[in-house]
Amino acid sequence: MKRKINFSPGPAILPESVLQQLAAATLEYEGTGIALPELQHRGPEFAAILEESKALVRELCRIGDDYEVLFLHGGGRLQFCMVPMNFLPDGKTAAFIDTGQWAHEAMEYAAYYGNASIIASSKESGYAALPAWPQQLPADTAYLHITTNNTIYGTQWDDVPATTAPLIADMSSDILSCPRDYSRYAMFYAAAQKNLGMAGVALAVIHKDMLRTDVRRIPPMLSYMAQVAQNSVLNTANIVGIYTTLLMLRWTKEKGMAAIAQENRDKAQLLYDHLDNSNIFIPRVKDTAHRSLMNVCFTAITPVHETAFLQWTAERNITGIKGHRYAGAFRASLYNAVPLSDVQYLVNTMKEYEQQHQ
Ligand SMILES: *Cc1c(COP(=O)(O)O)cnc(C)c1O
Repeated sequence: MKRKINFSPGPAILPESVLQQLAAATLEYEGTGIALPELQHRGPEFAAILEESKALVRELCRIGDDYEVLFLHGGGRLQFCMVPMNFLPDGKTAAFIDTGQWAHEAMEYAAYYGNASIIASSKESGYAALPAWPQQLPADTAYLHITTNNTIYGTQWDDVPATTAPLIADMSSDILSCPRDYSRYAMFYAAAQKNLGMAGVALAVIHKDMLRTDVRRIPPMLSYMAQVAQNSVLNTANIVGIYTTLLMLRWTKEKGMAAIAQENRDKAQLLYDHLDNSNIFIPRVKDTAHRSLMNVCFTAITPVHETAFLQWTAERNITGIKGHRYAGAFRASLYNAVPLSDVQYLVNTMKEYEQQHQ
């Protein structure tokens, strides 16, 4: 197969070595005579997959046993539901920093269970920048929720200041991509289909202090405490998805967090540098401190160029580069598995286009 040069926002590309291991395991899991999708969720093989995955999350995030690590169904949006169900008591406030569509959607879900309040927003700038970090939280704040990387608009928080309320973050599109102090967070979660494997799985990492009491009656499937009690196998687990996450975690460890972070900086810089000096393409986020290393959004000087360049890239084996309808023409997603050479190829493609259209 000739692989496309793939900048999709998610599901993202997976490393070829991961796909090969997944393909082999799909036919037979490690000499057991059983295919991966046929493994028993309460059997010893899957128990080992879970234990290694949990240990790798702790190691790579540099957090200890004071955090619970869960692998849940339902992707990112089910976490939008579970977070307020579990952590927002009636009448209390969940404070949100509104940095775009995902942050906003998480807030809308919280409003089913309590007060969901935007305490900082960059809506006025069309989410092309991050808002100032809020000085104060409402007195009855149960938690502060942020979205560390704004997949659609191309902005990203670096390490954030200390907060008085528990800090909860949606890290779906930048987990394990950059140095981050994960121990700052009372909870963080991520849909797996960007840096952690395939859709359907969500990683949820929760400090034990958050898990003392259920704030309301919750069916067990949606209760973090019940999921912790059953070690993520309250029902038949997503065995193939979680195994894919394990393969991604092993790949991440083998590469090393420092090397991954450096490569992500190099990839983003290569593309932003080109955009900053282009006379056809325009980067969407101007402030370099707010720019996402994972999702680089850009437009062209005219709609004609936008249509033409999309066609140009398609003819050159590039896919997944069309921007989200809310945020303009192009978005190149440079998740961990995207090699630097693919970004170089994209930049060369832009240069050729620019030369032909001077
Ligand atoms: C991709 C993504 C999600 C999750 O999506 P699901 O389709 O619900 O799994 C959530 N938040 C952010 C920031 C994302 O990029």
